[in-house]
Amino acid sequence: MTTSTIQPTIRQLPPLLVNQIAAGEVIERPASVLKELVENSIDAGATKITVELEQGGIELVRITDNGHGIAPDQITLALSPHATSKITESDDLDRISTMGFRGEALASIASVARVTIKSRTADYDEGRVINAEGDSINAPKPTGCPVGTMIEVRNLFFNTPARRKFLRTPTTEQTRCLEWLRDLAMANPSIGVRCLGDEKVKLDLPPNQSPRERALAIVGKELESQLVEVNVDQFDNARGVLMWGLVGLPSIARATSKAQHVFLNGRTIRDRTVTHAIREAYRGLIEPGRHPTAVLMIEMAPSAVDVNVHPAKLEVRFRDQSMVHRAVYHGIRDALTQADVTPSVMSILPNAGGATAIMPQAQPVEKQVDQIVEYLSTTPTTNTTDLRTKLTEVLRTPDLPTFSPTPPEEQRLLPPITNSVNVLQIHSSYLAIQDEQGLLIIDQHALHERMMFNTLLSRVTGAGSLEQQGLLTPIVIEVAPAIIDRFDDLQELFDRIGVSAAPMGPRSVGVSSIPTFLISRNVDPGAFLDDLFETVEREGFIPSKEEALHEILDMMSCKAAIKAGDKLSETELADIIALRNTTDRAASCPHGRPTTVRLTIEELERLFDRR
Ligand code: ADP
Ligand code: MG
Repeated sequence: MTTSTIQPTIRQLPPLLVNQIAAGEVIERPASVLKELVENSIDAGATKITVELEQGGIELVRITDNGHGIAPDQITLALSPHATSKITESDDLDRISTMGFRGEALASIASVARVTIKSRTADYDEGRVINAEGDSINAPKPTGCPVGTMIEVRNLFFNTPARRKFLRTPTTEQTRCLEWLRDLAMANPSIGVRCLGDEKVKLDLPPNQSPRERALAIVGKELESQLVEVNVDQFDNARGVLMWGLVGLPSIARATSKAQHVFLNGRTIRDRTVTHAIREAYRGLIEPGRHPTAVLMIEMAPSAVDVNVHPAKLEVRFRDQSMVHRAVYHGIRDALTQADVTPSVMSILPNAGGATAIMPQAQPVEKQVDQIVEYLSTTPTTNTTDLRTKLTEVLRTPDLPTFSPTPPEEQRLLPPITNSVNVLQIHSSYLAIQDEQGLLIIDQHALHERMMFNTLLSRVTGAGSLEQQGLLTPIVIEVAPAIIDRFDDLQELFDRIGVSAAPMGPRSVGVSSIPTFLISRNVDPGAFLDDLFETVEREGFIPSKEEALHEILDMMSCKAAIKAGDKLSETELADIIALRNTTDRAASCPHGRPTTVRLTIEELERLFDRR
């Protein structure tokens, strides 16, 4: 018997095929063509970019820019694979400041579409036009044109019908093109961007906008009052993070994550660490299934991040993931805290005791007085001059009793609330009740989260584990390969928290049961499991460590706890107060944020000028 008929032969692939394979990675649809071309225009220093689409870009994507153009002797080179003007040596990969660098976009696009490039640089009186399709590239011809570049891409995938079949309707493709264009425009507010779809104006943004103006023009000016600004400056000597952004109040959270735009050094990214930090910052403020609106522009030294890990450069690798997580989390959390839209006397008074996690940082007295006066003077009868004098006095009094969160840490059980009959639920989120010393205000979500956490923790302490319940149909979760590699180690942790799981492939885990209490609290199992594996991956847990367990139990408690916005019945209100009296460390949630603040009688008296 001879094997010669099946002996494979190794061949060098023809260039067209090589380019088409490369195109398979970056050019998926008209939107990817648009992205690559607009990025090239940005790299060329354009201040004005016009995009024209026909049939959602399937028939035509035409980009015209006023950038530096391409010199006559270079235009053919621009179309060849691995030809770029942006990097020359391997070290350049550590300091990439342009959008492109792989030198394969134009070659890839030309291998699957009909491409025309017309371009002129300021050094020449005339430009060049060149046509390419498949593997034929025509010789460039002289042509009259303004300085800049026009690139036309027609009949995408005309020679790869199998891929053309995967395109959706022109309307859908146009929507995707516009999504990309909006992101690119948001990251480059100084560039004027105009887009026509089948000759109708779809986007028209003037040049030289500020980041804020541009972001508002794109997310919707009408949302301005519902957005708060995020500012983080932790950039120091090429390390750390600089961040600016606009994030939405919980009230404008959406069902999808489409309203989240994250940029790193001007590039749109999708990154689990950042997404997770955003979600964490809104923990307890919005339902776990909803997504906050957010525009975040993160700036870091190019050497602190690797952008060369994904063909379309959508995913990146941070050298210090947890630093990025902290910056995003605290940046948003602080912004949301300070942004209290309905100014309350409490949130603008200084030295708000240990409640710093939810209180704005102390400001100069004058500024606080201004704010309070401004707030109070909206009541027509107030004499603002008098008020100002009195407030300044009060605020300057050094021993002013502060609104302190109830008892300090060592006093682990709170003094019982004796008169628990009258609990007032405020805006379905807070509970107001009196105790011997004054008025208590309770964050219902934070308190309930603490109670659940304690219960869960006491069940798993020692060798205990949470009761589990089988799922009708097992759920398959996509996970990072690292999870599969360490699955044997993680098994014990999963058992303890009531999750039965087994690897099903290099990136998937099948889950057949989850903790019973999550089911009885109506928690969506899919969302819980996604979060669970994400938490495990992000924290790189050593499963035997208690902190791993705590982190996960806290995540579960948060998911299962009553939310801000949940209306509670009288019995539920009475129950929660009764439980509070016997809950260890009830004054703070598992993350250390206060669950309760108190306004003492003395404080009330001072506020009303009775002292
Ligand atoms: P890359 O952007 O990774 O360098 P591309 O294939 O996208 O690779 O482009 C190849 C080269 O063509 C670029 O490096 C640049 O020199 C030139 N080029 C492409 N588009 C433009 C443009 N709009 N204006 C000026 N030069 C361009
Ligand atoms: Mg490019």
